[in-house]
Amino acid sequence: MTTYLWNPPDVVSLPVRGMADRLPVNRLFFVGRNYHAHAVEMGRPVDKANESPFYFTKSLSTLVESGATVAYPPATGDFQFEMELVLAIGAPGFEVRRDAAHELIYGYACGLDMTRRDLQLAARDKGRPWDLGKDVEQSSVVSQIVPMPGKVLAEGELALAVNGQTRQKSDLSRLIWNIPELIEDLSRFYHLQPGDLIFTGTPEGVGPVQPGDRIDGHVQGVGEIALTIGPAQ
Ligand code: MN
Repeated sequence: MTTYLWNPPDVVSLPVRGMADRLPVNRLFFVGRNYHAHAVEMGRPVDKANESPFYFTKSLSTLVESGATVAYPPATGDFQFEMELVLAIGAPGFEVRRDAAHELIYGYACGLDMTRRDLQLAARDKGRPWDLGKDVEQSSVVSQIVPMPGKVLAEGELALAVNGQTRQKSDLSRLIWNIPELIEDLSRFYHLQPGDLIFTGTPEGVGPVQPGDRIDGHVQGVGEIALTIGPAQ
């Protein structure tokens, strides 16, 4: 029996709707600028004809379940919400063509890509990596996974409210790169594996939260997500 110097981390997993088994999570991928109106509000419009999607990743240890209260993170004065559809990969795939991409789909969830915006933009403007802005402890919030094997979600309202006030409202039909296109593109760079989660990008309306704020979001046909911001630690 293998023994370790200290207890290794638990398997990171999420509940699955209607099932006792939990989904073991493998990696967390995030798509940048995948709604035109959000790309514009960030000052970086997207020209799909001449650009490819881009990605960043977060540590598995940043994952928290919907319903949590998370501490306002250190070293920021601009902690922001980003409401996103999350795609759960359920089968391995590499260099997958878009017309076969649905075969990798296990299901979907609602997600929040919480961001230290001040640090992200400072890094972006200096040409530095985004990790301090994005790979924030407790910043990858995910609802229960809804199994929809092989189903391509192409439309449905996605919205977020802070303290009951709507701040983001869009539709999955406005994704610049849709689900099959994202699987095709990301699988050029990675051997996708069951348990990989892909946060598909946020629409316009992103903004800051403060300690005590309550976030509620939903994606039509997928479900709901909630997060409370606690005091700074
Ligand atoms: Mn995002």
